[in-house]
This record gives sequence, C-alpha cells and structure tokens, in this order.
Amino acid sequence: MENRAIHIKSFGCQMNKLDTGLVATALQDAGFRLTESVTEADAVIINTCSVRQHAEDRVLSNLGHLKHLKRHRPGMVVAVMGCMAQRLGNTLLEHEAVDIVCGPAQIPQLAELISQALARHEKHLAVTETIRRPVDAGDGVLDDFESAYSISDQQIPGQAFVRVMRGCNYFCTYCVVPYVRGPEACRSPKSILSQVRRLADAGVRQITFLGQTVNSYKYPSGERTYSLADLLEMATEVPGVEWIRFVTSYPCDEYYEDILRVMAESPKVCRYLHMPAQSGSDRILRAMNRHYTAAHYLEMLDRARTIVPDIAIAGDFIVGFSDETEEDFQATVDLVRRARYKNCFVFKYSPRPGTTADKRLADTIPEEVKQRRNVELLAVQDQIGEELSRAFLGCDVTVLVEGLSKKAHVNPMDAEDRPQLVGRTSTDHIVVFNGPPSLAGHFARVRITRTSALTLFGELASD
Ligand code: SF4
Repeated sequence: MENRAIHIKSFGCQMNKLDTGLVATALQDAGFRLTESVTEADAVIINTCSVRQHAEDRVLSNLGHLKHLKRHRPGMVVAVMGCMAQRLGNTLLEHEAVDIVCGPAQIPQLAELISQALARHEKHLAVTETIRRPVDAGDGVLDDFESAYSISDQQIPGQAFVRVMRGCNYFCTYCVVPYVRGPEACRSPKSILSQVRRLADAGVRQITFLGQTVNSYKYPSGERTYSLADLLEMATEVPGVEWIRFVTSYPCDEYYEDILRVMAESPKVCRYLHMPAQSGSDRILRAMNRHYTAAHYLEMLDRARTIVPDIAIAGDFIVGFSDETEEDFQATVDLVRRARYKNCFVFKYSPRPGTTADKRLADTIPEEVKQRRNVELLAVQDQIGEELSRAFLGCDVTVLVEGLSKKAHVNPMDAEDRPQLVGRTSTDHIVVFNGPPSLAGHFARVRITRTSALTLFGELASD
C-alpha cells in the first residue's frame, strides 16, 4: 500500500479524536501515508458523531461532496467509522459515496478493509450486531489495538489520551451513546498502566484518562476492585508522567470522595472536574433519567471544593429538553449561578432516533426558544467565568504548552518576534502568551496580565 494517501476527517468528542489518532497510526504502520488534501487522497475516512443531529448532517453533507468527487475519481474509497456508522449500518452503506461502514469496535480492521476495497472495489459493512451484549474489553483485540497505536503524531505534543473504559450503562433518555458504544467495559489496570508507562517513555507528560462516565471505572481482580481513584494513584507513580486528567464524570457518590482525595494529595492529578449537570430542574432530570437532584449535585460540588479548594469545575447543559418550562429553565439558570463553573457547555436539545426520549417524549420546545435559552445561559456563565478569571490577574501559573495559538492574529508576534502560544493550567484554564515554539510539550510559568471569561493572557514569567 506504499504511497497510497489517506485523508481523515474527524467529528465529535475526545473518544473520537482518540480513535482517529489510533486509526491514523495503524494506517501509517500498514504503509499508507496521511494527506491533508481530500482531492489527492486514495481513501477518505470520516469519523462520525451521532450525539446531535447537526453532527450527522455535517457528515451527510461531506458525503455529498465526496459523491461528486468520486465521479472524477472512481477508484477513491470512502470509509465511514464511529457512532453514526454503528447507528445506521447498512443504510449508510447504501449511500452512493460510501464503500466501508466501520463501527467503533471494528476499528482494528479498518486498514485491512481499506486495502481490500482499494484492490477489489467492494462495499463492506463491519459493525457490532448485538451492541448491548457485554464484551470483555480487558484483553481483547481492541485493547491490543489501543496499546499498539496509542503513540500518534496527531496528538498535542507531550499529551496523550488513554481510554480506561468503553460504553455506558446509564441510559439517559436523550442519549444515543449506550446504543452505539455498547455497555460499560473496563480495561484492566495492568493494561492501562503499561500503556501509560510506554507513553511516558516516549516523552508524554500529560495523560488524560477517558471514559464516557470515567468515574464509574471498576475492575474486580481477586479480592480487590480497582476504581478510578486507584488508577490515578498508580499513574502518579509512573516516572515521567507529570499531570493526569480524567473526563467525563457522572454525578455519582460511589468513589467520588476517593477520587477527590487522590486529587488533593497529589499535585500530579489536575485540579479539574468536568461533571455535566444537564439541567437544574428535578422534574427535567427525572425525565432525562439522570439519577440525582439539583440539590444533590450542588452538594457534590461543595464537597469537591472542601476537599480540593483550588479545584475548577466545568459543566454541560441541555436546554429545551421535551416539555422544559420557563420555570424549569430558571432552575437551570439558578444552578449555574450557584455552581460557579470555570466554563460550561450548553447544547440545544436534539432528539436522537432510537432513544427513549425520542420514542416517548415530544420535542415540544420551538427552536427560537431553545436558542434564546442557550444564549441566556451562556451569558450568565460568561459573567461568572469573567469574575473567576479576574482572580488570576498578576498571578504566575504553570501551563503545559500545546503549541501555536490558533488565533495567532490576536497578538501575532511580540517585541522579540515570538509567536503566540497556547497552553493549559492544571485547572484547565486556557492561557495565551508569546514564546518560542520549542516550548510545545513542555511546562512554562506564565504571569497573567489580562483575562476574559474563557482565556487568560500573559507573558513568560522568566522574561
Ligand atoms: S451518562 Fe448519559 S449522557 Fe453520558 S454517555 Fe451515558 S447515557 Fe449518554
């Protein structure tokens, strides 16, 4: 397959970014080369997301373009992987542009499927037929694939994601994940730790443990059950690893304080908790099948701040869920005011086919109301973000530098002709400053001179 070029386009969450990195490395290992140009590609892979209709629409629009491109380049192979591939299966394979449909559990086969499609021009479906059947992720093919290809040149310098579990058992009524990623399956601590060691040996300084509900991680072994708190503690002992993060947490008491205590005790565990609330109305939380009340959620945040006083917390919300009244929405506004998030992500409710909410609850809230609530909630959060950011003025913070800032035009070069860089603190605050590009993948001290709701601006503290 030498010199065959692959173009990969990725949509969606960090799980998808991780899968894209794994697939890219596996393809390069199989002799393909990656290209930024879709027009020179022999094969195009689209890694898809099904969480919102908008994400699926963007994939369909991309497939429309590829259909036209293939008329001029009939030998080109198009593969669709990820959640939409698992959700739509054969329906997607019937699309004129599509040659391969590959579910999240089948990604180890993708390089071989592309080679075959390039040679034989046959369509191929590779998805899990019974998605809710429990799988042993511990020592399986996916685990080996993950371990073998986790060092990717696609990743941010010095950083890597490590999936500790797959799937979800919560079945929130609006969510498609349990139907496309299957039941929870936790990898063994042994396998996770050996991957962390290899990443650290390759120069990775920050590990992010990934799981749809990462704090549900549980691995029974002999007399003992390992939790996320145990994993974090063990990872802090790996030489070379400086920072460890974990996303995303479900609001649940099991192991909660254990996790926070490891965070409080080790400077290596980043002071950051991403814990979606989704709504501040108990009525809506019940309709969403979320297993907590607003009061319980806020009490959990209080506990986090008592155990780890410098913790930063981020939240997610859905506005305009079925039947959400103004009163329900005001309960959400109230929760956001009280939670004092570092930042939060707000999404307009989008019914997903096959979910309980789509089957049993009508999408009653008009688009313009969803839009207004979205804007209003973000405005409340913006004000809080600005207030919290201001506390950093004049402080020196440690950041892990990611590389050149994507918005380099904001402050392109400083007096010493150094470009604008971006990094993050342990609390996940985005920090923008000028410095040498060679800092990417390294830690730097930055003095904060200006702040906004989402970004801290500063200069290298040693200047
Ligand atoms: S916890 Fe709920 S929202 Fe999160 S992945 Fe599972 S079902 Fe979806």
